[in-house]
Amino acid sequence: MALTAMDIFKLLPRTNCRECGQATCLAFAMQIAQKKAKLEDCPYVSDEAKAALGAAAAPPIALVKIGTGEKELAIGNETVLFRHDEKFHHPCGIAVRVSDTLDEAALADKIEKTNALKFIRVGQEIKIDLLALENDSGDTAKFAAAAKTLAEKSDYALILMTRSPEAMKAAAAPIADHKPLLYAADAENHQAMAAVAKDLGCPLAVVADGVEALADLVEKVKSAGVEQIVIDPGKRDMKDGLQALTLHRRAALKKQFRPLGYPPIAFAEADDPCDELLLATTFLLKYAGIVVVRTDTPQFILPLLTARMNIYTDPQKPIQVEPKLYPVGDPAENAPVMFTTNFSLTYYSVESEVEASRIPSYILAVDTEGTSVLTAYSGDKLNEKVVKDAMDKAGVENVVKHRKLIIPGYVAVLSGKIEEATGWEVLVGPKEAAFIPKFLQQVWKQQ
Ligand code: SF4
Repeated sequence: MALTAMDIFKLLPRTNCRECGQATCLAFAMQIAQKKAKLEDCPYVSDEAKAALGAAAAPPIALVKIGTGEKELAIGNETVLFRHDEKFHHPCGIAVRVSDTLDEAALADKIEKTNALKFIRVGQEIKIDLLALENDSGDTAKFAAAAKTLAEKSDYALILMTRSPEAMKAAAAPIADHKPLLYAADAENHQAMAAVAKDLGCPLAVVADGVEALADLVEKVKSAGVEQIVIDPGKRDMKDGLQALTLHRRAALKKQFRPLGYPPIAFAEADDPCDELLLATTFLLKYAGIVVVRTDTPQFILPLLTARMNIYTDPQKPIQVEPKLYPVGDPAENAPVMFTTNFSLTYYSVESEVEASRIPSYILAVDTEGTSVLTAYSGDKLNEKVVKDAMDKAGVENVVKHRKLIIPGYVAVLSGKIEEATGWEVLVGPKEAAFIPKFLQQVWKQQ
């Protein structure tokens, strides 16, 4: 919770010496509260006040970083319970489990398969973030060797999963510069596990059953010098998992309960991959920082990534494509020209159907500030003038020889006005993108 100017003022020397450039300590406190000044500008702030102000100013859910460079995953630092209150800041990491019992060939196969879990959706790449290596073999050397192979050959950051501090140290030490997440410290091993995490500078997951046990363990690990912490409430089924994740988020944000102010990790465990997907999606939506799954099948990973993309999209800023004329295929001067809005979901729906039609075409993405056709029309962001301006700007008349424009069926009402404004003949296209191939094959070809 942000400190008020009065909270800050109480921690200042209150001598009004003016050395900070402000007339009074209260004025300085107000500047700090508004983030217009830094605490260091006052040379007389005590160490106690610095610690108190620093702790109070810390985010209610800590930012935790796993991995480095292009593989880095940042989680936590969330500020709201509900996306519409602001936005969710750091997308939940998605991890796929890998067993250290796999032989060399199977491990290479797994790496190749998981490296391919990348998809393009509405013009953006979506992919998993982590591999979670489990010490199923119980063999320290095998665990360490698999960790090294994954660190070198996988495209993702790592979670190392063992309750043995010795095995953890053996696996994590050679790849410490990759900053794997160490999973996990529990009631029995927390001292040794915290020592490994602190020595290697790696983030550490803490697992316990129940709020009090988890809070207690977090405090112990923290006092051992570990700052980067991920918490596991230890619940695996839908009801208890959702309840625990919600409780932790509320405790961190609403009660400012610091011991639970860390991003949580959740495990989706079910025999049926559909059940696993349901569990994982539920935990992802509320409020896991990392979700770990067993499946590496693209048809189960893609919906999970799509759900994440949706929930972590800023509701105030729709995803947009650049407003311009896009060729689809290799269109000639007699190719159809249609327009749609620059809302990514709308644009890519139209583009994929035009591709499916196998008729090379031009799509003019009109700037409607990233809103869909009907929303833009309702808000007067899509009218005959906007369409004409977009056509002029893109120089459409120089690209094709005909003067026929296909417009979305939802704005058929604009056809007369667009014809008047542009001088082009208007063909009213289908309302739904799915009918574009049929329209192009049956209507356009008759033109
Ligand atoms: S320098 Fe510090 S003590 Fe002096 S007026 Fe500013 S805040 Fe107050």
